[in-house]
Amino acid sequence: MDRDTMMKALEQSGTAYDVIIIGGGASGLGVALEAVSRGYKTVLLEQDDFAKGTSSRSTKLVHGGVRYLAQGNISLVLEALKERGRLKKNAPHLVKDQAFVIPCYSWWCVPFYTIGLTMYDMMAGRLGIGRSVPLSSRGAKKALPAIKAKKLRGGVRYFDCQFDDARLAVNLAQSVAEKGGLVINHMKVGGLKMDGDRVSGVSAEDRESGKSYDISAAVVINATGVFVDDILKMENPEARDVVKPSQGIHLVMAEDFLKGEEALMIPKTSDGRVLFAVPWHNRVVVGTTDVEKQHAELEPVAEEQEVEYILETARLYMERAPERSDVLAVFTGLRPLAAPAAEGKKTKEISRGHKILISSGGLITLTGGKWTTYRKMAEDVVDTASRQAKLPEKDSVTPTLRIHGYKEGVDYSDPLYWYGSDRVQIDKLIKEDSALGAVISESLHVIRAQVVWAVREEMARNLEDCLARRIRALQLDARESIRMAPAVAAIMASELGKDKQWESSQVETFTKLANMNILNH
Ligand SMILES: Cc1cc2nc3c(=O)[nH]c(=O)nc-3n(C[C@H](O)[C@H](O)[C@H](O)COP(=O)(O)OP(=O)(O)OC[C@H]3O[C@@H](n4cnc5c(N)ncnc54)[C@H](O)[C@@H]3O)c2cc1C
Repeated sequence: MDRDTMMKALEQSGTAYDVIIIGGGASGLGVALEAVSRGYKTVLLEQDDFAKGTSSRSTKLVHGGVRYLAQGNISLVLEALKERGRLKKNAPHLVKDQAFVIPCYSWWCVPFYTIGLTMYDMMAGRLGIGRSVPLSSRGAKKALPAIKAKKLRGGVRYFDCQFDDARLAVNLAQSVAEKGGLVINHMKVGGLKMDGDRVSGVSAEDRESGKSYDISAAVVINATGVFVDDILKMENPEARDVVKPSQGIHLVMAEDFLKGEEALMIPKTSDGRVLFAVPWHNRVVVGTTDVEKQHAELEPVAEEQEVEYILETARLYMERAPERSDVLAVFTGLRPLAAPAAEGKKTKEISRGHKILISSGGLITLTGGKWTTYRKMAEDVVDTASRQAKLPEKDSVTPTLRIHGYKEGVDYSDPLYWYGSDRVQIDKLIKEDSALGAVISESLHVIRAQVVWAVREEMARNLEDCLARRIRALQLDARESIRMAPAVAAIMASELGKDKQWESSQVETFTKLANMNILNH
């Protein structure tokens, strides 16, 4: 997957496509794979990097959503559990089983959650992972050695899956490219092309060269997450807002705040939400929050209250009370929730289901949904798009389509496991040039070959693409990512043919961003 090759293909293959997708997050990449795998000529344009938006900032769970079950949203849970099973089968190198334990400090908690979670298991049917079980107080403490033992009456263990969101996005982009689709990052759509009153394409700017392109297609799909309203207003400046952004933050801490493989799940916090503390790449991700926002932003900032709420809630359960200085990184995302017709609903009450809208000019917009259900969302969108554009009817093949990197029997203790079938290629690079085996970060287990691989095969174009989304350093330990930045920039500059000035400006820009992911204390 090489950007220069993609740009050449865009210039040479003409500018008429079956499908144009705007946005390279979970939704857009899913739609692109769905379209290209049905044989449609497909191009996806992403203004920044794949998964730059919300899709790299999730809680990293592939789940049915225990919370949605409690809200009575049975159809959403059923759909998500089905997709959880499919994703686990199609991308086993990134999606793994995760045990969660609810610690119980009251007499009713163990039977109550055991019954609820047994229903959850039954809903997964044959795609279930493991049975939920009640735990004694000793059992709960053994599963979660770092939680408070005082007044602990027991717990309930259940299973869901955990994944790496930005890595899955990159692998989806690679899968699209392998099937002959174009996926172009750093390419911003600035306007829609109209043929009479029909949307017939887009005008886009290559943010690297500054060059503009007019691209036509039978159908244009708007999958820009919290930015969908900006695109809708390009067709009709009076269009009603269809998205309600809701902010959620996560704090990343050292693994000894959990001391084990099992995740902590707090089913009801002081604000009536769920809080997770989940082991992820030898760290612990704690979150999340749900704060309504008026505006979409590409780089949202955590509010002080959100940080305090997570720390205070975690302190109620963790034996070693986390302090601000224990936070290795903060990351913040905006949920593109489908705005409900009725005003006044709190964002935490809005369904996580997806919606597909067709504008009067035929622009198809996708809102809402979750990472877990991206494939089903894409299937629904492409069904709609192919009917509308009268494309040849084709059945979806994605329920069983293996995603790039697919590998069975992954050894999760290998720090490079997330490359799946590409893991051997990293070794090959080191065999060809032993210097590439040199370590850039001991604590994050990053070697030089990963940076070379990110540039050559994963379309990393700048330091942030590499440190934030190809290698997850920014989210795992923001200070360490700043320390690594000059070394990574030097390798990237040599791969991309850039000069010293590029290197230093990259380090400066990245450092500014990474400092926003660090808590002041
Ligand atoms: C805090 C939080 C936790 C979550 N946890 C989970 C979880 O554990 N499990 C789960 O299943 N789901 C989770 N979700 C939901 C999930 O992350 C989102 O539903 C999903 O990532 C949304 O993807 P998207 O593609 O719609 O949006 P995005 O990922 O935001 O993608 C939209 C893209 O469009 C691009 N774009 C915008 N304008 C333009 C333009 N003019 N031209 C070109 N490109 C453009 C943006 O740069 C962006 O990359 C969570 C969400 C949040 C906020």
